Amino acid sequence: MRDAWREVPPTAGLPLRWRDFNPRRKSPSLEESLAAFLEVPSVQLECSGTAALIIALTTLKQTSSRRSVILPAYTCPLVALAVLHCGLTPVLCDLAPGSFDDCAESLERLCNTDVLAIIATHLGGRVCDLDRVTSIAQRHGAFVIEDAAQSLGAVWRGRKAGTIGDIGFFSLAAGKGLTLYEGGALVARDPAVRKALEETSSRIAPYQLLWEWRRALQLIGYRLLYRPGMLRIAYGLPLRRALRKRQFTAAIGDDFTSSIPLHRVGSFRRNIGARAVTRLPAFLDALSMQAAIRRRLLRSIPRIAVIGDAEGTRGTWPFFMVMMPTTEVRDLALNQLWTAGAGVTRLFIHALPDYPYLQAQLGTHHVPNARDFAARMLTISNSPWLLKADFHRICDVLAGVVTVSFANSR
Ligand SMILES: *Cc1c(COP(=O)(O)O)cnc(C)c1O
Repeated sequence: MRDAWREVPPTAGLPLRWRDFNPRRKSPSLEESLAAFLEVPSVQLECSGTAALIIALTTLKQTSSRRSVILPAYTCPLVALAVLHCGLTPVLCDLAPGSFDDCAESLERLCNTDVLAIIATHLGGRVCDLDRVTSIAQRHGAFVIEDAAQSLGAVWRGRKAGTIGDIGFFSLAAGKGLTLYEGGALVARDPAVRKALEETSSRIAPYQLLWEWRRALQLIGYRLLYRPGMLRIAYGLPLRRALRKRQFTAAIGDDFTSSIPLHRVGSFRRNIGARAVTRLPAFLDALSMQAAIRRRLLRSIPRIAVIGDAEGTRGTWPFFMVMMPTTEVRDLALNQLWTAGAGVTRLFIHALPDYPYLQAQLGTHHVPNARDFAARMLTISNSPWLLKADFHRICDVLAGVVTVSFANSR
């Protein structure tokens, strides 16, 4: 029998240390450190990436009679829920073939005088085509909101992704790099917009003691369990239970509800984030180096494609997005790897119109490329805890399923 796989998280989050919890360790505030890291004047902290987006949309809505928001047809379902929460209409843009980025023609076609904002999404550490989306948005008088939830630290032409559009947001949820267990960061280019975002936040996201206690306990739990040896309990067991029942959305945590908490982040968690964020740049550099080596191994496997950086961009590497030749081959690989908890999984299970809990509000859509992306993609963790030997075994499995299916199809 082969050795057991080492359990690793599906994305490379910055591990917390107990000393991050030590109140005597002084550091600049989390907002100051993030602003310096992003090279922006200020950063607004919110209780989640979704809350940050709700605050952005609520603020923009006040200034305009436009009522629809364009978002990619393959993204985090919370983005669609946030748009609906604000009483706005989500308009789904199909992806370009084999890409996470919007299809330019679809985007152009969907734009009209009712479009309040276009959400430009930087998925999985990659950076989308900001030139294209900003020029289309400008032509139609729409705002650009960058969803950099998964791409804190990614770079577009020397500037940080998330800071180029009118408004940008980042997620500080567990599993998204830097974490407060749940949290979000909001930035805006225009000082007047920044001021309006603060006002909206103080109005709709007040301090709530119970939420803060709950999140503080969850963050302590995360510190206890987010480490090799404990992940079997925190991640592996629930994953396998859900997969046994074939509850795929539960397995990857895609089963969101429309009730979205809105509250301020308290100082206990802010201070933990403030101490941890000092390690973020070095951590991201180490991930990039590991990714460069491992991408080379993946590239040697025929008929699969790793989604890389577009020209002029330098992304971060929480995980690899790998396009398999067909859904059947992707699922053959997942049959061997998913339940192992070895860091191979799926990102979002469906294109947005295919989530049962969104169907009623979104209706039917013709988004073939988004569906194809959901059906052929798998992700491989770039966690530093994923052993070299296990990464090689993952590559062997991928090479094996590709070869077998290719031989059978001849
Ligand atoms: C996670 C995620 C969000 C929402 O962020 P939360 O902090 O989980 O609320 C938004 N967009 C994308 C692409 C995400 O991955």
